[in-house]
Amino acid sequence: MSAGAINTPQLLMLSGIGPADHLAEHGIAVIVDNPNVGDHCMDHPAYMINAETTAKGTLHEAQSPKWLLAYLTRRTGLLTSNVGEAGAFFHTRSGDAAPDVQYICAPAYFYDHGFRTYPTPAVTIGCSLIGAQSTGHVRLRSDDPKAKPAITANYLKEPEDMQAMITAVERAREILASAPLRALVGTEIHPGRDTSSRQALDKIIRREVEHTYHPACTARIGTESTGVVDPQLRVHGVQRLRVADASVFPAIPHGNTNAPTVMAGEKAAIMIAAAS
Ligand SMILES: Cc1cc2nc3c(=O)[nH]c(=O)nc-3n(C[C@H](O)[C@H](O)[C@H](O)COP(=O)(O)OP(=O)(O)OC[C@H]3O[C@@H](n4cnc5c(N)ncnc54)[C@H](O)[C@@H]3O)c2cc1C
Repeated sequence: MSAGAINTPQLLMLSGIGPADHLAEHGIAVIVDNPNVGDHCMDHPAYMINAETTAKGTLHEAQSPKWLLAYLTRRTGLLTSNVGEAGAFFHTRSGDAAPDVQYICAPAYFYDHGFRTYPTPAVTIGCSLIGAQSTGHVRLRSDDPKAKPAITANYLKEPEDMQAMITAVERAREILASAPLRALVGTEIHPGRDTSSRQALDKIIRREVEHTYHPACTARIGTESTGVVDPQLRVHGVQRLRVADASVFPAIPHGNTNAPTVMAGEKAAIMIAAAS
């Protein structure tokens, strides 16, 4: 099964593999009672700092016939941008083996998953909490396979997650206020200079936190009491069923999730081939 960290636990639960009491709420016969199915849901919460810029050549200009033509005829120009043109990884706290924050920087305005627009050129430093500890869960809304599952993200539930996020925002501000960016950066749009104390940042981040589309860990590798699949990715309690997607991570990687998911798929293929 490779339906992703939201739909894999949904399908398992619809098939009778999941928390017995929750399945009973929806009249689903229990095949395996496993409360770990859909649990431990992790992601990388994110907050986007945006500031106006006087720099030329930002993606504000990209949506013009000139750049469309350059791209279509010569594969050059602003539309060749990958948007996230610069990045950084760093620690906000000691004790983590890997950095807990990732910056994704864009020569463009980006907020609310891209739903909002801004009338003038801007830059973004996206603060992604790759070392997040908070966990949520995926549950069923009904026994109808076409119904969307219920997702409780619980971003920033753990206090240390919020502290790391606030520190990430403060450091991003320092970067924007340092040379060479200082000369090109103007008014801060989000969170805005009025939001300066850590308490004020806590409030706005909690209200406007986004995520980086990296759900994981909802059918994690573990024992029968701590996980959903064994290290061979076999679902506990049933035969001939494996999970190969981002659900199986025991904890979310401190970095983007696509490559680790591909790795899980490759590894699953090798194990299935070896077993057949
Ligand atoms: C907008 C966006 C941007 C991203 N950017 C990056 C990035 O820059 N770098 C990075 O590393 N990661 C990125 N990711 C995350 C990355 O795409 C995921 O971590 C990865 O795709 C997870 O793989 P998966 O196999 O677990 O799930 P998915 O890729 O979601 O695959 C699950 C598949 O199962 C199918 N499916 C679900 N339910 C059913 C069903 N009932 N029947 C049949 N099929 C079903 C779905 O249609 C889908 O094709 C991004 C994700 C999004 C959404």
